[in-house]
Order: sequence, then C-alpha cells, then structure tokens
Amino acid sequence: MILGVIADDFTGATDIASMLVRAGMRTVLLIGVPDPGVTVAADAVVIALKTRTVPVPDAVRESLAALRWLQAAGMRQCLFKYCSTFDSTPAGNIGPVTEALMDALGTGFTIACPAFPENGRTVYRGHLFVGDQLLSDSGMRQHPLTPMTDANLVRVLQAQCTRRVGLLRRDGVAQGLTKLHAVQAVQAHFDQLRAQGVAIAIADAITNDDLCTLAAACADLPLLTAGSGLALGLPEVYAQRGWLVPDAGAASLDPASGVGAVLAGSCSLATNAQVQRWRTSGRPAFTIDPRALARGEPVAAEALTWAQAQQTRGADQASQPDQAVLISATAPAEELNAVQRELGTLPSGALVEACFAQIAQGLVAQGLRRLVVAGGETAGAVVQALGVTRLRIGPAICPGVPWTQAEDGPHDSPLHLALKSGNFGGPDFFDEALRLEVHR
Ligand code: ADP
Repeated sequence: MILGVIADDFTGATDIASMLVRAGMRTVLLIGVPDPGVTVAADAVVIALKTRTVPVPDAVRESLAALRWLQAAGMRQCLFKYCSTFDSTPAGNIGPVTEALMDALGTGFTIACPAFPENGRTVYRGHLFVGDQLLSDSGMRQHPLTPMTDANLVRVLQAQCTRRVGLLRRDGVAQGLTKLHAVQAVQAHFDQLRAQGVAIAIADAITNDDLCTLAAACADLPLLTAGSGLALGLPEVYAQRGWLVPDAGAASLDPASGVGAVLAGSCSLATNAQVQRWRTSGRPAFTIDPRALARGEPVAAEALTWAQAQQTRGADQASQPDQAVLISATAPAEELNAVQRELGTLPSGALVEACFAQIAQGLVAQGLRRLVVAGGETAGAVVQALGVTRLRIGPAICPGVPWTQAEDGPHDSPLHLALKSGNFGGPDFFDEALRLEVHR
C-alpha cells in the first residue's frame, strides 16, 4: 500500500477514493477501522470515519486507531482528508486530529490544503472561496453543525491548534516556472516556514496545476492534510518514484446486473431537484411519509411491496435503467421544517433512516444489486444495514461520486452502490448513475 487516507466522513471518503482511481490507483474504501488481522491488496486504502463533529477526544482516538492500522499495513504516506469547505468547529476537529497524527508520525511539518478548484473551492492568501464567494459569505455560514463564519483559514486552524499555523502563499512562489523549478520553489518556501516555527501551512491553490506542484513538493512529508483535490496530483508523484504502476482499469468494477433503485433521504436543494426531475419525467416513485412512520405504520413493507410490483410490471420494458424505482423522503425546506417541528429533528431523521435501512435490506433480498443512495447520513444507514464494510471504487458519475462495489456483499452477484452526498450532482444525476457502464 502506498497511500493511507483517514477521512472524517463517509461521502468524503468516497470522494477522495474516486479521485485516486481516476488517476490509476487501485483503491479500497474501508468503513470504520478494520480489525488488526484484516488485509487489503490495493495501492491506496481509504478508511471512512465519522469524526467531523464528534467530541475531540473521540475524533483523535479513532483517527489514531486508523493510523495504526494503516501503518501496520505498510503505508508510505498518510493523508488526513476533510471537507473542501474546511467543515469544523472552533474546537476542531481538523486541528486536534492533525496534531495527534503529527505526534504519532513524529513529524514537525505538514500542510493543510482544502482547495478543490474543479468543484469551485480555491484558496488564495489563506482565504477559502466557494465559487465566487468567500467561505464566510457562502451557504456554509448557516451550516447546522459546522457553521463557517471566517474565510481566513490560518486564523480558523490556529484557533484549533497548539502548534503554529502559517501560510504557503501562492504569490510567494514565482509563476511560470517549469514544473521541477516550481516544486523546488515550494519546497524552499516550506523551509522558510519551518525556520519561522510554522508547523502547519495553509496552502494556497487555485488551479489543478497548483495542486500537482504541491503534491510533488510534499512527496517526502509523512503526513498531508487536505480535501480530495490534492489527491489529483499524488498518483503521478508515486509513479515518478517507481512506487506505482498506474492502472488504467483501476476504476473498473464487475459488470452490473439487473434493475436498480434510488433511495433518496437527503433534503438538499440538489436532491430535491433530482427527485423532482425523476417524478416529472413519469418514472415510478414512492414517497416515505415521516408522520406515517411516527404513527407506527409499516411504511417500509409497503414500499417493498410497491417496488416488487413495479419490477413485475416493468419486466417487459426494453431498458433496465427505465425500470428503476425511486423511494424518497426528500422534501422541500418548508415541509421538512414542519415535520421537524412536529416530530423533532433527530427523532424524525432517525425514523426515516431506519426506514431506508429496512428498505435497502428488503430490496437486496428481492434480488436488486444496484442502489443509488442520496444523503450522507442516509448512505451510512444503508451501508450499515447491508453489513458492508469494504467498497471497491469504480467510475465516477459526477465529480466526487463514484459507483462502488461491496467487496463483502451478497455472494451470487456483485452489489453496486452509488453513495451521493446531498448537494452533489446535477438534476439528472439518478438517471446518469443508472445508465453509467461500470465495467470497462
Ligand atoms: P445530506 O447529505 O443532504 O445532508 P443526509 O442523509 O446526511 O443528507 O441527511 C438528511 C437527514 O434528513 C437524514 O437523517 C434523513 O433521515 C432526514 N430526512 C430526510 N427526509 C426527511 C423528512 N421528510 N422529514 C424528516 N427528516 C428527513
């Protein structure tokens, strides 16, 4: 194994894994820290944790456990992956986890690079932009768990750290240099920062080239901390070192079989638009009513009976993607707020997640082997219910969302899962996912 990634949430883990396979690294995603005896054959292993908003000591403990497993598996470089919007609270967990990993790896210097220009996240003079807006003017300002009200990442990270945080300025490195000279210039900048006592440098990056230069300059650092963008540049560095033979088929899964289903438990704007598009195009859709769940009605059983009937009815249709069903709890903000006021935010969310967990089990029992799941928490509930702990990463449906294959799924035929973070994907995402060829 070359790269070991510790990801602070589930859909973020699939996001970075997707970047790595795109550049030819055979990548396996493990859900939670595996037992010490578990072995994996891959160029990169991504361990998906759920540590973004848990208490600091828990985040540190789990991240260190993941590190120990990756070290035992022979990893050559470690990357702590967080969100490209630097989702964190004043207490952490990006800072404390970074420092704990630095201690454990015995390293005195690392970078922090959330930039992901392809998704509109750029960092300039230490300030994070989301599209044209500063982070602090973007929707992240109102995030329920990790509101980001300061775009100055040096200040944000310093508040979470005991070590000194500094800035690797893009305009401190001359532009227009050859790649080799640019890498050397960044490394000279690292040396200056180290001499100033900086232990963690927020790295400016506004283009993919910046990320590639940075990845090359960091080749000898034991620890990197970043969003998924930096992963773009890493495989090339490993190939140049002779560690990696890029595999053009890294993103290929076993052929998909049968009809698919979409489970939408996200209420994001993007998922609302996707569900709306599905319905208006006349595709079969079933709606989960959280109030019916609260009354104890057998909603999951009803959804499964409905899904089975749809499959029987659609069996004579020409194309399998057209037979797919959608089961959703997705609701616009006003409706969601009304339900949350009535039933409570956490209880209603838990009821809906439990319902999706049961539905996913039922669909797999009916023989379905292709599930598209919308929503980070929803995806977590589904994967857990299906007992899946290892995912092979396949081709991307859109940036950040790959098809995956459960390595410990049913034995008869492969189980493919597309796990979408709420806000990802265009209005036709579900259809695009179902029509994508996963075997190349
Ligand atoms: P996202 O990735 O968009 O944040 P998540 O799945 O992480 O999506 O979170 C959505 C949460 O909202 C889940 O806990 C889900 O069960 C809950 N939820 C979805 N639909 C409804 C609804 N109609 N009423 C109440 N809660 C809902």
